[in-house]
Amino acid sequence: MIVTIDGPAGSGKSSTARAVAERLKIQFLDSGALYRVATLLYIDSGKSEPLFFERLEKSTISFHFQEKIFHVFLDGEEVTDKIRTMEVSEHVSEVASRKEVRAFVNALMREAVKKDVYVADGRDLGTAVFPDADLKFFMVADLETRARRRFDELKEKGMEADLDSIKQNIEVRDQKDSSRSEDPLKKADDAILIDTSKLTFEEQLTKIADQVSDLVHNK
Ligand code: C5P
Repeated sequence: MIVTIDGPAGSGKSSTARAVAERLKIQFLDSGALYRVATLLYIDSGKSEPLFFERLEKSTISFHFQEKIFHVFLDGEEVTDKIRTMEVSEHVSEVASRKEVRAFVNALMREAVKKDVYVADGRDLGTAVFPDADLKFFMVADLETRARRRFDELKEKGMEADLDSIKQNIEVRDQKDSSRSEDPLKKADDAILIDTSKLTFEEQLTKIADQVSDLVHNK
């Protein structure tokens, strides 16, 4: 069973999906993290496309959700923190726009969700990856709120953060993610729209968790 939460950067989808998974004891899948791992590989390949595609084909990306953390591994090495740097954020939309990369990540996700109950967050999960998902949400929030959330998140992890650069990065990524030809960021017609700008975290979590819980218990 799969529940999808799509939306732009910083709309709260990842933290909400993670908290829903924790509350209902189901699995969480952070699709953005998988694009970030691919981006790490791209940077590691000297941003050279032929080399990057060659390495992507041969590499193993694995992941699991444990103790509130979505752990990701590249060829056995844990890269959970490495994928959150500004350098990765600056290149991720460009890397994610490649159809080879999308096919690779989509295959990983479709295989993973076969085995369990998942709540997954991303940009195109309800439209392109899991069009038949059991329940779909699309979360939005104004730019100011979204940038502030990313800033607080990085600070909390003790990482360097600058509010203006984050805002700029989010704006550029939104623009790239929404306008790309391969599976752009878009609300699925049957997704439930949730604007989190004026909601507390607990409010947005309850709104979604209650509906997912009904679904899980009625299946
Ligand atoms: O969710 P997060 O902000 O970590 O995602 C990083 C980037 O990965 C996004 O800006 C987008 O370019 C890409 N992405 C995507 N499709 C998804 C999830 C993320 O293209 N389903």
